[in-house]
Parts: sequence; structure tokens; C-alpha cells
Amino acid sequence: MPQRVSDPECLFCRIVAGEIPADKLYEDDELLAFRDVNPQAPLHALIIPKTHIATLNDATAGQAALLGRLLVVATEIAVEQGFAEAGYRTVINCNGDGGQSVYHIHLHLLAGRRLAWPPG
Ligand code: 5GP
Ligand code: ZN
Repeated sequence: MPQRVSDPECLFCRIVAGEIPADKLYEDDELLAFRDVNPQAPLHALIIPKTHIATLNDATAGQAALLGRLLVVATEIAVEQGFAEAGYRTVINCNGDGGQSVYHIHLHLLAGRRLAWPPG
């Protein structure tokens, strides 16, 4: 198993470590999914790799499968929670202009209401 990187200062690494509680929706060796503390839709989940990757810019080609798994798990949660047919949105915000506020890569899964486009 590849070595997992953890940053003790990182909020999501602390959730992975169990130091901060989270409402978990899915967990395996590589990934964790939990409900966003400030939900923007009836279902708002965050899917994260357990290893610390700060932004999408920091992900390597060797982590392509891991990044792909974020989407696979998001879809599984959308199906399980009954939102697959109606639809949903997945988003990764990157750095300041992308609206990133927590610097541990995470895929947002939003569902349960009609989402506007373009985003604000
Ligand atoms: P970003 O703005 O970086 O794309 O998304 C960060 C998300 O993390 C935000 O939607 C925010 O509500 C969520 N968040 C921030 N702190 C916590 C926390 O302690 N627990 C959970 N579950 N979500 C958090
Ligand atoms: Zn982290």
C-alpha cells in the first residue's frame, strides 16, 4: 500500500485521523466521504483522498486512479441516496479564484435541488 501523507495542521487530515468528528457516508483504505458542515443543497457531501493532496494542481499523474475513484464514490453515494435519476453536480474548487477554502483536495457532491449554471 502506498504511504499515506498527513498534515497535522490540515482540517481534513484531522477528520481522516478521527480528531474532528464528521458525518461519514463512505470510507475505505484510500477515501473518505462525509457531509459538508455547511450544506449548499439537501445532499452536500465531500469526497476526499485520505492522503494529503493540497490542491488539484498538486495531484500527480500517478494519482490518476485515486482521483478517478473520487468520482466513482460520488456516483455511488448519489445512487444510494436516491439522487442519480434527478441529477447532481460534482465540483473540485482549486485555489483562490476557484473558491477553495480547505487546502486538502475534495470533490463536492451536490444534489436535491435544481442547481444554477453558470456558478457564481
Ligand atoms: P472549498 O471551499 O474548499 O471547495 O470547500 C470546503 C468545504 O468544506 C466547504 O463547503 C465547507 O463548508 C466545508 N467544511 C469546512 N470545515 C468543515 C468541517 O469541519 N467539517 C465538514 N464536514 N465540512 C467542513
Ligand atoms: Zn490534509
